[in-house]
Amino acid sequence: MNTPGEGHSVLLAEDDDSSRLATKLFLQRAGYKVGETQDGPATLREAALGHYELLLLDLGLPGLDGEEVLARLRDNGAMPVIVLTGRAEEPERVHILDMGADDYMVKPFSLPELEARIRAVLRRGRQVPQSARIEVAGLTVDRRAHRVYLNSDAVELTPKEFDLLAFLASSPGHAFSREELLEHVWGSTQEWQDPATVTEHVRRLRLKLEVDPANPRWLHTVRGVGYRFEDEQAG
Ligand code: CA
Repeated sequence: MNTPGEGHSVLLAEDDDSSRLATKLFLQRAGYKVGETQDGPATLREAALGHYELLLLDLGLPGLDGEEVLARLRDNGAMPVIVLTGRAEEPERVHILDMGADDYMVKPFSLPELEARIRAVLRRGRQVPQSARIEVAGLTVDRRAHRVYLNSDAVELTPKEFDLLAFLASSPGHAFSREELLEHVWGSTQEWQDPATVTEHVRRLRLKLEVDPANPRWLHTVRGVGYRFEDEQAG
């Protein structure tokens, strides 16, 4: 019988012994290879070895906290990260995604749900197109380089802002609901994440891309539906 983990290797950074042990045993039974660290510096050293496909990162780590670990990882690579946090407030969750985490789990979390999210993140990693460049009237989305240019000026986007823009721009003229965007861009197949996350990311994208964010050229709100990327020049 196939196990969901299929031998995928994950690094589990958690200083709480009982939580780390329970998570490790659950994932091992599901077929994952699990490495463990208990502080920030050790996590960075292990992650740098390149043996792991994904990092489960407790935010409250001794030595170097999880936020700093995530920031340093993001400076030198694209290893997927699921943050484990006790902080459940909306601004904190948006902040975690902005820092470049692929997903997060609020403690106490369900282990089967964590496992499902690990699968979703690994699946997304495999689906990234090898080379795709979208160019529409001054806006360039380079998926291979993970870069966006506006009239040849580079635009700094967070990883999720980039994923959202790239997804919408791949289907110009097509309206997507926030739930569909959560599913396709965040990999959330149940109501795991707040649709307000999408609203907030669209708002930030408009601030970064639109000449007049209140009157968008690219990212349109479709009343009662969600959002649509427009490639035709209006009027
Ligand atoms: Ca901790």
